[in-house]
Amino acid sequence: MSVLAMEMRSLEDDRVSYRGDRLYGPPGAMFRVGRDGIAGFWIACPRCGAFGSARHGHSWEIEGDPSDVSTLTLTPSIRKACCDWHGFLVNGQFVPVEESV
Ligand SMILES: [Zn+2]
Repeated sequence: MSVLAMEMRSLEDDRVSYRGDRLYGPPGAMFRVGRDGIAGFWIACPRCGAFGSARHGHSWEIEGDPSDVSTLTLTPSIRKACCDWHGFLVNGQFVPVEESV
């Protein structure tokens, strides 16, 4: 099942909560983070909603308008450590690998 990307401007949101030591939000939510002038996002897993950032040193090629997550396409694929979701962000939709062909 594909899930629409949507930007969360704040983590002060009723839909965001901790379970154990992990932060969860609405599946497909993207929270903008910057580090050393490099744009980045925390992505809430499209399946389980666990937030996570890229492994250090891992980066993606971005197509689309970085200010509008609904236009983004990332290359290569995204793999989430939480529940092993693996898929792509294509034109603002998270698509599991098994549905992407
Ligand atoms: Zn997950």
